Amino acid sequence: MAYDNNNIFAKILRGEAPAFNVYEDDHSLAFMDVMPQVPGHTLVIPKDPAADIHAADPVILGATVATVQKVADAVKAAFAAPGIMIAQLNGPAAGQTVFHLHFHILPRHEGLEFRMHARDMEDAEVLEAHAAKVRACLQP
Ligand code: AMP
Repeated sequence: MAYDNNNIFAKILRGEAPAFNVYEDDHSLAFMDVMPQVPGHTLVIPKDPAADIHAADPVILGATVATVQKVADAVKAAFAAPGIMIAQLNGPAAGQTVFHLHFHILPRHEGLEFRMHARDMEDAEVLEAHAAKVRACLQP
């Protein structure tokens, strides 16, 4: 799939759209999903433009997955989650809605159901509070 420089995650990377950031390094950025399926739903993206996993440079993909592990550790601690689900969708048929490669990190608790994918916007104060919890659990 061709990469659209005006997708929302590209705008976040350029600072043209706001985000509740939790982590950033040379190759990746992590921020709260604004329509979380569970409290603490966090996204990790590479800074390189790639629409999906098929278009990603394997070295950058590896570095991005290392960030996923780091942020997932922090999300698990921040939300006292007994389980962590990692999801990554490629193509509209798989449910992808933003065409910049990203990984979903979802804290899971027994009996706590998912909300619908990319549907209900969370309040900014809640998202900022959740981002602060994750940041507090990240190693410097
Ligand atoms: P996917 O359907 O796998 O492409 O996931 C895209 C995700 O991005 C969904 O979970 C949306 O809720 C989320 N999302 C859309 N716009 C934003 C945004 N501006 N900031 C953070 N997350 C977003």
